[in-house]
Amino acid sequence: RGFEGGYNLSDVRVNGALVRPRINDTMMRLDLASPLAPLGGKARISIHFSFRVPEHGSDRMGRDSTLYEIAQWYPRMAVYDDVRGWNTDPYLGQGEFYLEYGDFDYSVTVPAGYVVAGSGVLQNPEDVLTSEQRRRLSTAASSSSVVQIITQVEAAAAKTRPKAGTRTWRFRARNVHDVAWAGAPDFRWDATSWNGILAQAYYEFPKAGKAWEQGAEQTQWTIRQYSQLFFPFPYPQATSVAGPVGGMEYPMFVMVHYGNDDPTSIFGTINHEHGHEWFPMIVGSNERRYAWMDEGFNTYLNAFAAEARYPGQSAYPGYLRNWADAVTKRTQSPLMTAPDNIDPSALGAIGYRKPAVVMLTLRNHVIGPEMFDTSFREYIRAWAFKHPTPGDFFRSIENSAGEDLSWFWRSFFYTTDVLDIGIDGVSTRTSEGQTFATIALHRFTSVPFPVRLRVAYADGTTQDFSLPVNIWARSNRFDAVISVRGNVVGVRLWPDPSVPDWNPSNDTWGKPPNANPPGPVTR
Ligand SMILES: [Zn+2]
Repeated sequence: RGFEGGYNLSDVRVNGALVRPRINDTMMRLDLASPLAPLGGKARISIHFSFRVPEHGSDRMGRDSTLYEIAQWYPRMAVYDDVRGWNTDPYLGQGEFYLEYGDFDYSVTVPAGYVVAGSGVLQNPEDVLTSEQRRRLSTAASSSSVVQIITQVEAAAAKTRPKAGTRTWRFRARNVHDVAWAGAPDFRWDATSWNGILAQAYYEFPKAGKAWEQGAEQTQWTIRQYSQLFFPFPYPQATSVAGPVGGMEYPMFVMVHYGNDDPTSIFGTINHEHGHEWFPMIVGSNERRYAWMDEGFNTYLNAFAAEARYPGQSAYPGYLRNWADAVTKRTQSPLMTAPDNIDPSALGAIGYRKPAVVMLTLRNHVIGPEMFDTSFREYIRAWAFKHPTPGDFFRSIENSAGEDLSWFWRSFFYTTDVLDIGIDGVSTRTSEGQTFATIALHRFTSVPFPVRLRVAYADGTTQDFSLPVNIWARSNRFDAVISVRGNVVGVRLWPDPSVPDWNPSNDTWGKPPNANPPGPVTR
């Protein structure tokens, strides 16, 4: 809306000496007078910076009347890694961030009536909170039920009685790669805890919707769920803030859209944004280059949460439809495509849902749930607070699972091909008293896959068979000769209907047996 953005920088110093920064797009280069010593050498950089908060917010920054959600608000360190050296990809919006871990101390000075929520732990509660609020907070810190730190009556009263002067809120966050915060004079503030982790919700009421009265509980549930399933949440608190930003994640702190009276109107976003605490906050993937290692892995986690929170419901059919949509519209690009090069209309499919389907497929139909869950936990543990590349993920899973999965990575990560295996025909013969069925299998795309078959007999019984992926090593056709119990009257590929075979019309022969009913995909 015509807003002139950007930082004003001045007094840029390295080790106390003024330097002239070289600015290239959103990147700033500072030259050191002498090389930084290896193994713990230190340089001190100081920068005076300022910017105007966009009146109407801007993508990941939000403003609504007196409510401010502030992010990307200070110059941040680029990652220097042993793969690419300095990672100097500029910020482009659709691609997100790649940032280095560190410990942060930051102070926010606001009008005295404001309440500030942020990444990290508040360092000076005695300066900014009342003794009653501090008492309620300490109750919440050991309570699994929700405690109101600021009630609706108190929030409404605060709004109508502005205080003079300013207050400074000081926060500290350890081992994170960013910090963000929000402030408003009329936040309601709820808190609860799990396992010593404070789960908090800040929201203006009734604007944010009655759903937000469950915000703290949904935050707590999410942190507990993912801690138990994947890797223990390592930070002391998790905060959800309601505001105009539709959904954005920062360490220990997420921004979530307003809701309505229905608690499910915010659950998906609260659950998704806090899922990012695992990717990319704990596992520091390069989301600027590989959306699937960030949004994709998170969407995979979200499938587990959806089925656990709402038994009988599943996110999986929606994931599949979204991927299929991109295939049909020809907006696909390989998962390995950097997010800024993905068709914006296909970002949901390529960045989020196809990778989630692909991960569930690997888990449920290639490696097996138990081995995959063990392997994926080991990947998170091994790469927590580090910067894995795609190859690190591929090797980690292969090492844990003990399988060469190069065919899987190539098919689903490096191409846009879909799985389409079909049955050309079936014949039965008897030899020396034994009955054999020959099932002519046909692979119509470049994507190989281990085959599962269900055979139907004349007496109404069925039998399942498995064939390894190696059957596709030399050809796109394979005649599977299997020993059967009697005359085969029908065959079905994929007894489990969650295998993402693009074309079901060639998956059956004769009078096919039933597939399993669709069920949960995260058991
Ligand atoms: Zn996300």
